[in-house]
Amino acid sequence: MTARDPEFRLGSVLATTFTGTLTERFGAPVERIPTPARLADWLREVDLAVDACSPADLAAAVELREAIHIAASAQAVGQPRPRDAVEVINGFSARGGAVAVLAEDGHRRWFLGQPATVAAALGVVAADAIEILAGVRPGTLALCASPTCRAGFFDTSRGRTRRWCDMNTCGNHEKKARLRAQRGE
Ligand SMILES: [Zn+2]
Repeated sequence: MTARDPEFRLGSVLATTFTGTLTERFGAPVERIPTPARLADWLREVDLAVDACSPADLAAAVELREAIHIAASAQAVGQPRPRDAVEVINGFSARGGAVAVLAEDGHRRWFLGQPATVAAALGVVAADAIEILAGVRPGTLALCASPTCRAGFFDTSRGRTRRWCDMNTCGNHEKKARLRAQRGE
């Protein structure tokens, strides 16, 4: 990572952590996987380390990311999921080929082939998106309350009352803005 590379925001849900590699979509967007090397870094961070990552792999990743973003955003506001976005997600899932492995530490890991390919890693991300879109896991998709963010996130809070994609970033900005407004600044 060079000094100029934006940091990753890692959440607990793989698919929305992936859509969160492009932030502030309605403000001044920040691309957090600007190069194949940074995509490889991100995949390593989420336990999907690959052996090589090409510009074509990066383009594929961005295609999947935007399809998940479109489908999740539509679902969060109760609209039908656009069919072409769903087709893209299903296509990546079908081409994946990763194998779930029970590791010695008791955790699930993904075997991404030899060599470990980006296609296999993206298949895991696509399958995770399908799980949250299909309601396989408890939780609901919602949109971040920050008007410059509007990121889709997976709300697993008890009363489904979470408002921000990330408490440390969007939640904090909002809190500071409110305090400034109260002080009449
Ligand atoms: Zn947000």
